[in-house]
Amino acid sequence: MESKKSCSSCSDSSCSAKKQGANETKEEYADRQRLAARLCRIQNKIVVLSGKGGVGKSTVAVNLATALALNGLRVGLLDVDIHGPSVPTMLGLEGASLKGNPGELFPVEFGGLKVMSLGFLLQNPDDAVLWRGPMKMGVIKQFLTDVNWGDLDYLIVDAPPGTGDEPLSLCQLIQPLDGAVIVTTPQKVAAVDVRKSISFCRRLEVPVLGIVENMSGFVCPKCGELTQILPEGGGRQIATDMNVTFLGAIPMDPGIAQSGDSGKVFIYHSSETPTGKILQSIIDQITEPDKTKNINA
Ligand code: ADP
Repeated sequence: MESKKSCSSCSDSSCSAKKQGANETKEEYADRQRLAARLCRIQNKIVVLSGKGGVGKSTVAVNLATALALNGLRVGLLDVDIHGPSVPTMLGLEGASLKGNPGELFPVEFGGLKVMSLGFLLQNPDDAVLWRGPMKMGVIKQFLTDVNWGDLDYLIVDAPPGTGDEPLSLCQLIQPLDGAVIVTTPQKVAAVDVRKSISFCRRLEVPVLGIVENMSGFVCPKCGELTQILPEGGGRQIATDMNVTFLGAIPMDPGIAQSGDSGKVFIYHSSETPTGKILQSIIDQITEPDKTKNINA
């Protein structure tokens, strides 16, 4: 696909960025055009969502992006989890220095992956907690508009948790989104959050690519046996109930926690383990749904 470098050189008359909105100032319109020109150069945009924090959303986003990059694709990973940007830690990129020009930020290159995280910009991780709602939204918008990804095959977005204003404005800004992956834990109580996340996607007309049930049972590091710790099956059940794809269940595996803390991506270092194979099958279904269609039927 031919990449479009700027709105003025683009002939797509159906693009909403071609016209200034009735309530939009000149500046707002120029910002929207700038954002559209950046997003136009990205072929597939996938957001990773969760009903709440701590369920493994960033873990899925990091492994998905890495697996795609390992396949030779041009991939960006955008961490907009404003309250807990963990991507820099998971990739061993804490303290990375950003390069840019006024109004332009270049992602950090990591292997074949381009990475941008709000964590690179926050001097103190507690800063964002103190910001008021509109300020957070302004930061997210500015951040999205400024990052210069160049041409990408995939952009994987690690969204803020929940279905509130922050993920909402993110999903409204990244248009069009090609799909959402929803990460949850297996307990039935988590199902309420998943329902909200699915409704959120449907309201925004973002296709749900599927549900990942994470921390589903525990794999003993000594013998490899899988033990169910939490009540299981919530993710699978909700997928059936709400007619969305169940992508698979990732066990609680100490190797995943260690890789997250040490900046060594699990799918790169542990792809041959049973958990690595499960993770890879989930990634294949997200990126090649036609080839893997009936895998969980
Ligand atoms: P979220 O993005 O939803 O807040 P994270 O991906 O940051 O969640 O995961 C929270 C913590 O749980 C991290 O320390 C991560 O390494 C760990 N973790 C995630 N999934 C697993 C798993 N399947 N097994 C073990 N630890 C996990």
